[in-house]
Amino acid sequence: MQGLMQDWPLLTHRIIDHAARIHGDREIVTRSVEGPIVRTTYAEMRKRALKVAQRLDREGIKLGDRVATIAWNTARHMETWYGIMGIGAVCHTVNPRLFPDQIAWIINHAQDRIVITDLTFIPVLEKIADNVPSVERYVVLTDKAHMPQTTLKNAVAYEDWIAEVDGDFKWKEFDENTAAAMCYTSGTTGDPKGVLYSHRSNVLHSLMANSGDALGATSKDTMLPVVPLFHANSWGIVFSAPAMGTKLVMPGPKLDGESVYELLSTEKVTYTAGVPTVWLMLLQHMEKNNLKLPDLKVVICGGSAMPRSMIKAFDDMGVEVRHAWGMTEMSPLGTVGALQSQFAQLKGDAKLDVLQMQGYAPFMVEMQITDDAGKELPWDGKTFGRLKVRGPAIAGAYYQVDKQILDENGYFDTGDVATIDKYGYMRITDRSKDVIKSGGEWISSIDLENLAVGHPQVAEAAVIGVFHPKWDERPLLIIQPKEGQTVTRDDILQYMDGKIAKWWMPDDVVFVDSIPHTATGKILKTALRDQFKDYSLPTAAA
Ligand code: AMP
Repeated sequence: MQGLMQDWPLLTHRIIDHAARIHGDREIVTRSVEGPIVRTTYAEMRKRALKVAQRLDREGIKLGDRVATIAWNTARHMETWYGIMGIGAVCHTVNPRLFPDQIAWIINHAQDRIVITDLTFIPVLEKIADNVPSVERYVVLTDKAHMPQTTLKNAVAYEDWIAEVDGDFKWKEFDENTAAAMCYTSGTTGDPKGVLYSHRSNVLHSLMANSGDALGATSKDTMLPVVPLFHANSWGIVFSAPAMGTKLVMPGPKLDGESVYELLSTEKVTYTAGVPTVWLMLLQHMEKNNLKLPDLKVVICGGSAMPRSMIKAFDDMGVEVRHAWGMTEMSPLGTVGALQSQFAQLKGDAKLDVLQMQGYAPFMVEMQITDDAGKELPWDGKTFGRLKVRGPAIAGAYYQVDKQILDENGYFDTGDVATIDKYGYMRITDRSKDVIKSGGEWISSIDLENLAVGHPQVAEAAVIGVFHPKWDERPLLIIQPKEGQTVTRDDILQYMDGKIAKWWMPDDVVFVDSIPHTATGKILKTALRDQFKDYSLPTAAA
């Protein structure tokens, strides 16, 4: 027997309709690429998104066509998402931090017809323009006054482009499983792979993000997403915030500590989300200038492991830290580390121990850990295994890649290695390709990195496995000291001694001026492995 409820497809534009209707006056504040702070509202954003939809329709963009955006977090960028998706086209967010050749590869693979971009990225797009024949037009997110001369094909200033229509337009109707957006994984090996979100998965993901223990912001909150719209679906915030009527503050191109602090402070931001690198810059700026953020309630941090020293710094400020884990393939939320009731009274180190884990899965994410043979491992908080996931906002296949990515039970192997405890709290111990295999046992590179960055003179730390004649691999610790500070191998080893098992201690420590990162801010271990591939450990001779 079928239920007798209304057929109401889960379409993303219903979110902006709702925001405009119920929370129409709530603001979206942007530090614009041109410089000034600009303000709009959800009601205004909906009107302009409809103009984008109408203008794209006039341009001949049809259901399923791809429209790329290469842009910072701004209200203009956000409204283009709703405009593109609202006619059933696919909003393809491209990460401008990729190498130009990779950007061209991705645009060609997606066959983007239109590219919507910021002033900042015109030079890089001009460089690759001859190699991306599918692109018919470039729309620059600015007005006539700021529009520069450019050789980009059919380039037009966004404000002029949408001024050509009147906004008297209706969203198109289509099935909720229609593709809404795509985002390529940064892929440190092999070609990038396209994840294709649907309207349904985006709407369900926004409900999941809006549950109290996940992002959990409300209509009384102000959220500043430092996480870029081009990174993993903006962690869903473009959908979850308007669904709740949360005021948004968009940082535009300026993500340094001072600029982010200024917006957090002046706009009285209560929730903010971003990767650890951003919080490092913010905390350094605040410490140097003795600054406070009395309105800030929650910091959500993910993308890579949040160091314990950073968790403590926020906790000491009275800010709730929610360590989150996820991936592009998961829309991206996988786990969030709010404190469950049994942990609510914890203090000091015991509290930090819980906060340092990546958290537990909200409803709609199912997890398991298995050994290499696929056998499920216990949730005892100690046993490491391959972390696998399934749920309605998790990829089932990659765009135009003819390869099965789910196992026979419908689980996707995340490529991460993790423990899960009896309460469901997951702790990432490594990427499966980064874990150090020493004499058949696994050493977590992330645990060692987290420990080393707790040293007061260390800015960043990376650990890789280096060949060892007896143990196969042993850990090499690579340290980038804080600016102007000197620190020795013995200082670091002494600091770590006693805090981890003896056999986990790095066999050597080396110092570098800077640790390389991927386009999404993760440590680029492939480059480090290359750089140190002939490194001879002092213990190797023994
Ligand atoms: P991306 O698709 O670029 O967001 O990358 C996803 C990967 O980032 C995951 O598979 C993890 O390896 C890593 N990652 C994300 N969040 C965390 C976290 N909180 N701690 C450790 N690793 C993380």
